Amino acid sequence: MAGLNQEWMTRACEAIPGGVNSPVRAFASVGGTPRFIKQASGCRVTDVDGTSYVDLVCSWGPALLGHAHPQVVAAVQEAAARGLSFGAPTGAEVELAERIRARVPVAEHVRLVSTGTEATMTAVRIARGATGRDKIVKFAGCYHGHSDALLAAAGSGVATQGLPGSAGVTVAAAADTIVLAYNDFDELRSLFERIGGQIAAVITEAAPANMGVVTPAEGFNAEIRRLTAEHGALMILDEVLTGFRVGASGWWGFEAGVEAPEWVPDLITFGKVVGGGMPLAAVGGRREVMDLLAPLGPVYQAGTLSGNPLATAAGIATLDLAKPEVYDRVDARSAELQRLVGDALTGAGVPHVIQTAGNLFSVFFREKPVIDYADAQDQDTAAYGRFFHAMLDGGVALPPSAFEAWFLSVAHDDAAMETVETALKQAARAALPTGESIR
Ligand SMILES: *Cc1c(COP(=O)(O)O)cnc(C)c1O
Repeated sequence: MAGLNQEWMTRACEAIPGGVNSPVRAFASVGGTPRFIKQASGCRVTDVDGTSYVDLVCSWGPALLGHAHPQVVAAVQEAAARGLSFGAPTGAEVELAERIRARVPVAEHVRLVSTGTEATMTAVRIARGATGRDKIVKFAGCYHGHSDALLAAAGSGVATQGLPGSAGVTVAAAADTIVLAYNDFDELRSLFERIGGQIAAVITEAAPANMGVVTPAEGFNAEIRRLTAEHGALMILDEVLTGFRVGASGWWGFEAGVEAPEWVPDLITFGKVVGGGMPLAAVGGRREVMDLLAPLGPVYQAGTLSGNPLATAAGIATLDLAKPEVYDRVDARSAELQRLVGDALTGAGVPHVIQTAGNLFSVFFREKPVIDYADAQDQDTAAYGRFFHAMLDGGVALPPSAFEAWFLSVAHDDAAMETVETALKQAARAALPTGESIR
């Protein structure tokens, strides 16, 4: 089954730690051999054995338009022909920043970086620079990239690996990070009552999707906003995953509304879709706060490849193609997929809950809804492993971890849905608590 994939994995493990350049690709929590991808087109990826899969990972989010969209590829090719990197400003950087502002007006000023990790790390630094305070509050199970301060209780990759946090993070770096339970209003209020004056920022995933999808309780984001404002702290809304994916203006636009927003964060971070599959991310926010960045202000941040011309070309092409119809279509496909999965699992008698945040969703093998990280950890991850492999055998590539959202694209077609429906028949049975390991 996994012939050439296994050969590549063996070779990879000789040259690369664990054979992968990002841990969750390693199949550590589901077992088996990762598929080495040779090419991808639309909603399908093809591995080195020539086997194609309906892709429900979509590069962990970026491939909103499907893989290798011809217009995005053409934009990148044209940009490449004009030069790969200049280390000087370009018009395309301005054009992308303008598009981000137009869709998410709270991002009055935008700085482009190369990864989501950089975006959130920069947001934290700005918040500390703006407030002169040290403490950062985050929620257990929310992932904000792998910078030292934000790696505590960080969801998916870390949860998948079963590590408590990370070795190599100093006590000092972790000491200023306070981790609270997600969706817990009381815990948040009491923290602010006690030490509100020391808190630089609360950072939160706009809608958490890195412990599986956990829908924000009604008013939770607004309460973060209210408390931070009252105590002179900033609110950092991490939309690296949700931005431009759950809607044209991300989760913020979806929940707060763009025209007369119910609440606005001070800083907002983007990644994934905004780079259209290229290494590009962004931090934006209120002008006064963003202008603390060098060269205007005292908060230093830089990047040799920031705003790279190929990446900005992909980002601009992607946003221009991501029109309202695209989101309508992805929403509809998501609803259809949820129904297929729900019917198959219910039909087979598998205990499960499907949780959504706009068109994002994930399936937890447990009886009750997940409201925080402790709940997310209390699921049958072994059942997910069996389910995952049965789906893979049926030609469907799910995220190789129970702690992830499933991703769709506008390119997922009826044929893909049929493949999924057929694969689900075997997979639902494999997910039964008594299911045999089929590997
Ligand atoms: C993926 C992700 C990040 C990190 O982005 P990278 O580009 O992988 O560094 C940060 N925050 C959230 C919410 C993410 O989903």
